[in-house]
Amino acid sequence: MSDPATEVKTLDRHECRACGYVYEPKKGSSQSEIAPGTAFEELPQRWKCPVCGAPKSQFQNIGEIEGASGFKENLRYGIGVNTMTPTQKNLLIFGGLALGFLFLLSMYGLQ
Ligand SMILES: [Zn+2]
Repeated sequence: MSDPATEVKTLDRHECRACGYVYEPKKGSSQSEIAPGTAFEELPQRWKCPVCGAPKSQFQNIGEIEGASGFKENLRYGIGVNTMTPTQKNLLIFGGLALGFLFLLSMYGLQ
């Protein structure tokens, strides 16, 4: 098992919460002359969404590739859930749903 703190830099994709544009570090951004392989964290502070001009703070990390982060999460869940009582599992599921709902609400609120 590797310690997350010592893991090498991952090229996580970041999605603009305002317009849905996804910054892909492996591709960079041709519009703003960002070279492929530039991590989101390495983008200049003045960098803005090339589509709508939102600042970096409006972006959220959506993981390296679709599915991969979910797989990691499933692994973590798998370990935790096995030691839980059914009541705790239900709480976890409803808590997750409520969080997802709140997240959707905040997305709509920004638009
Ligand atoms: Zn945008």
